[in-house]
Amino acid sequence: MSDKHYDVIIMGAGPAGYTAAIYACRADLKTLVLEGMQPGGQLTITTDVENFPGFPEGVMGPELMDKMKKQSERFVADMKFAIVTDVDFSEHPYKITVDKDIYTADTFIIASGASARLLGLKSEKEMMGHGVSACATCDGFFFRNKEIVVIGGGDSAIEEADYLTKFASKVTMVHRRNELRASKIMQERAFKNKKIEFQWNKTVEDILGTPESGVQGVLLKDTKTGELSEFRTEGVFLGIGHEPNTKIFKEKGLKLDDHGYVITESGNSKTNISGVFACGDVQDDIYQQAITAAGSGCMAALDAEKFLIENK
Ligand code: NAP
Repeated sequence: MSDKHYDVIIMGAGPAGYTAAIYACRADLKTLVLEGMQPGGQLTITTDVENFPGFPEGVMGPELMDKMKKQSERFVADMKFAIVTDVDFSEHPYKITVDKDIYTADTFIIASGASARLLGLKSEKEMMGHGVSACATCDGFFFRNKEIVVIGGGDSAIEEADYLTKFASKVTMVHRRNELRASKIMQERAFKNKKIEFQWNKTVEDILGTPESGVQGVLLKDTKTGELSEFRTEGVFLGIGHEPNTKIFKEKGLKLDDHGYVITESGNSKTNISGVFACGDVQDDIYQQAITAAGSGCMAALDAEKFLIENK
């Protein structure tokens, strides 16, 4: 076999991918990790992680991911900062393309995670990076003493809003219902924070301003009355959830659910394609936690190891 052939190729380098890598390499499997464009995944753009066991005082997301990366580097020989551009599951071993390079793998672990969901507005696209952002930790600093809006009512939105109050003079959460989806502890955090206000039963229909002027406001629609109103703000942060990174698998024979998540068997990480496994947020639309992603990464590596033993 060529030096581009691996027992396991792992696509993605968040908690799921790094954990799968640690387990696969410790099982002495020749492993390649294709890290994608955001090694460390979504935790690299969050702040305090207070619910990952082993860190009694909490840990910053980027620091946690740096530790996971360093731990996997102790065992993984081949880790590449590269994006998978194509996959071919029609023949075994499977072909994984990264630009012009083609790697082959006896087993493939999908740990490509999920990305921030957008509203789909033209203005949102035009002004991304000009006052519109989906990453409070990356961009919060630019909004010192400004009034900003955070869209969403889940844990992500509150986490963003709470973090942004370090910089902003006021943060208004715009939520399409009159109650938050977020966990109780996060809700309490938002309600206690004097810089956070709420616009209930409202959706953002448009973002006002230009890339040159920056954001000047949002057009809100009342979900009960349909009434439109302008709300002045200098920044818009999206906190409306995530979408699985599975575009590349469309029409490749891999079963995805209606929302694009990879379907795995109950109780293990097997997909409908033998030797292809999935772990982390790319196959989990329920828990979506760093700890559950890490656990499922472990499962995927153990399932891949078992597959290799059974199919030797
Ligand atoms: P989420 O729980 O799915 O919440 C998404 C929020 O955005 C919901 O309030 C939803 O409204 C709203 N929304 C979705 N699409 C929208 C649209 N097109 N327009 C307007 N609003 C829209 O997503 P998440 O907050 O990213 O959390 C995902 C998972 O990660 C959860 O399990 C969460 O507990 C976890 N998480 C935990 C923490 C933490 O513990 N520190 C931090 C972040 C995330 P509706 O409520 O009306 O559906």
